[in-house]
Amino acid sequence: MYRIVLMPKAKVDLVTITAYLSKFYESTPRKFIEELEKKLETLSFSPWYMKWEKNTEYRKFFVRRYMVLYQVDEVTLTVYIHRIVNAMLNLKSDIEVMEDRKVYDMKKIRNHIYGPIRSRRLGNSLGVDMVPHKTCSLDCVYCECGATTVHTMERREYIDTDSIISEIDDYLSSAPPPDYVTFGGSGEPTLHSGLGRIIRHLKERFPSQKLALLTNSTLLGDRGLREEILPCDLILPSLDAVTDKVFREINVPVAGIDCVGIINALIALSAEYRGQMWLEVFIAPGINDSDSEVVLFKEAIARINPARVQLNSLDRKGTCETLAPAPIELLEGIARRLEPLPVEIVAKRNG
Ligand code: SF4
Repeated sequence: MYRIVLMPKAKVDLVTITAYLSKFYESTPRKFIEELEKKLETLSFSPWYMKWEKNTEYRKFFVRRYMVLYQVDEVTLTVYIHRIVNAMLNLKSDIEVMEDRKVYDMKKIRNHIYGPIRSRRLGNSLGVDMVPHKTCSLDCVYCECGATTVHTMERREYIDTDSIISEIDDYLSSAPPPDYVTFGGSGEPTLHSGLGRIIRHLKERFPSQKLALLTNSTLLGDRGLREEILPCDLILPSLDAVTDKVFREINVPVAGIDCVGIINALIALSAEYRGQMWLEVFIAPGINDSDSEVVLFKEAIARINPARVQLNSLDRKGTCETLAPAPIELLEGIARRLEPLPVEIVAKRNG
């Protein structure tokens, strides 16, 4: 079943049409609305009416002499009604200008946000890409986004903060709310110096919208950053190594970061944070799965005290061609050794 959303301009159109029709007979606007609702009901079962030949991104149907223009989002199963216009009037000036596209152009919307996607851990998640492709403090061997292009620990406004806010606002004010708005993407989101402002804005404007942050944990030693992210409902930090040799091998960090610093930062965050923290440990066979590393993982994670420990492994090809997914038996063995920590396997089961 498709959900129907009347976009702001369609609502204005409807008010204008109703006011206009009320000049004739009292019952005309009501009849018009009834007819429109009946068509919308049918539309929600079968959204593929006629294409609008002037711009085939849009579909159309008619209620009396009014043309209804809409788009269908198959991911969220939503029918967006954009305009309801008098088909007898000059549609050229009314619609071809397509001022709506400023708001609804999917390409524009998706410059810095993507999805919502179905996520194993987060349900229906609207992703926010906070930094240019592969701007990261690490260059993990398992990264599915390719090699890091900007290897840095510098926090700055890589992308205009206002344009990120405006894209998320546009989405949240016109589409069904996702389970989470998730700061993540193809780089390290905490590198963006506007993260705190975006989080505060969203919590003020959409207080019931849950926010999640995926982070590689490397910047959490910064007390100011930790304060910025406290309003998030869920923080999913990573910890893939507890000794520096393994850290360099699996995560390839920028010079100057070490495991002790990251573990201490995670302990500090856990003490300050009131939301849920799910710690992800990516298992790379032959790199971070030795007995001694697992023993140290257990000690470090017990001190961090996250609500969940999630064991993950390769799903798609990483930057290291020879890296293989961890077999399920390996993950189950590590999970047993980490008990009684609240550990679960989130890796895709590959047989
Ligand atoms: S931290 Fe994330 S984005 Fe950065 S290299 Fe590792 S997997 Fe890729």
